[in-house]
Amino acid sequence: MLCCVSDRIPSLEELHALNPAQQPTYPDPAAVKSVVEELRLRPPLVFAGECDDLREHLASVAAGEAFVLQGGDCAETFDGVTAANIQGKLRTLLSMAVVMTYAAQVPVVKIGRIAGQYAKPRSKDTETRGDVTLPAFRGDAVNGFDFTPEARTPDPRRLLDVYNASAATLNLSRALLGGGFAHLRSAHSWNADFVRTAGVNERYEHLVAEIERALAFMVACGIDDDVFGTVDFYASHEALLLEYEQALTRIDSRTDRPYDVSGHMLWIGERTRQLGGAHVELLRHVRNPIGVKLGPTTTGEDALALADALDPHREPGRLTFITRFGARKIREGLPPVIEAVQASGRTVTWICDPMHGNTFEAAGGYKTRAFADVVEEVDGFFDVHDRLGTWPGGLHVELTGDDVTECVGGAELLAEADLGTRYETACDPRLNRNQSLELAFKVSERLTD
Ligand code: PEP
Ligand code: MN
Repeated sequence: MLCCVSDRIPSLEELHALNPAQQPTYPDPAAVKSVVEELRLRPPLVFAGECDDLREHLASVAAGEAFVLQGGDCAETFDGVTAANIQGKLRTLLSMAVVMTYAAQVPVVKIGRIAGQYAKPRSKDTETRGDVTLPAFRGDAVNGFDFTPEARTPDPRRLLDVYNASAATLNLSRALLGGGFAHLRSAHSWNADFVRTAGVNERYEHLVAEIERALAFMVACGIDDDVFGTVDFYASHEALLLEYEQALTRIDSRTDRPYDVSGHMLWIGERTRQLGGAHVELLRHVRNPIGVKLGPTTTGEDALALADALDPHREPGRLTFITRFGARKIREGLPPVIEAVQASGRTVTWICDPMHGNTFEAAGGYKTRAFADVVEEVDGFFDVHDRLGTWPGGLHVELTGDDVTECVGGAELLAEADLGTRYETACDPRLNRNQSLELAFKVSERLTD
């Protein structure tokens, strides 16, 4: 048993004394207190033992034996909790994973940005339209998207809705994935109902046909293909709202240790990863696997200090650095960070988020990303790791199962003028299903280089 700094869960008062960044200002503190009390009575959303399993999978990624695919919406919405929407995201993730597993012959650890991704950090606390200034939209977990004073006022009862929406999403995901939806035999059907893009689609159909032949061969040899019937799938989100995450942090009866049972893996965002800050302080004490986003200003010292705080015992699989430098900064910015971590003798999991360093505003005012920049950052990530002899452990993407028009480029050659056709994100622009699949092929090429 590892010894630990302390297994005491920091109280909300202690966390607030650290002046946490990116928290809503609730108008009624008594209402917040009663919501937190209610949340504390709710059952866990995930089982602590599953978090341990994921930590072990991530340890094999850190050891260079597997790859991670982490993806989903930038911001989930309560309206988005529908069967069609959840299935669409799962199908997209499963098809991407199958491409990587089969084409690159590496096990893929599948983690959704799902069932809890309802709160967003913002660069400004307020939004101004004309002469009206209101609180910024901070995700459905905090306030409403409509630009009215009523909608934009933070409402703590939304935290209970987050719990319910996450429970419903997890329930359907578990039922689908355990109930045959994820069977490799269905890989063909994950591709049904999508806009067909020549090239990407043909490649996928070709790969699936090969898998079907391989499965038939194994069955003919007497191998039971039930082992291909289910997949391990994990839920993750940014641990942003302290009231929610702290109320769902519980002592696990098996191990007597604290776990944040709001999701299997939690990550700390680029804007809330201050050392000594409340987010690091809370997550330092939980046993879940933890991610930290690292942006373009990160130094080797920053990464080491975070690793010392969050992973003092150097536990394999505990810590994942999700780098998001931007296509034009990664080749210079990432090497010193990796080198410092390597020199310390630590083994962490490295994941590439090629989305958040590549956002820009298109002519029509839409926030977008260029598919070519996303690919360029992924290439930079692989090149840097190849050069340093470290393992490029995974991909973290914002995607949806729908045929949205939010990122420009890709096989469909989406132009800035097309963005208005189907721009639906509640926050950052997501890859649509075809762009996601195209990226999966790109990654599998890099993995087999
Ligand atoms: C996000 O993942 O949606 C996000 C806000 O990322 P970052 O913390 O890297 O800016
Ligand atoms: Mn985002």
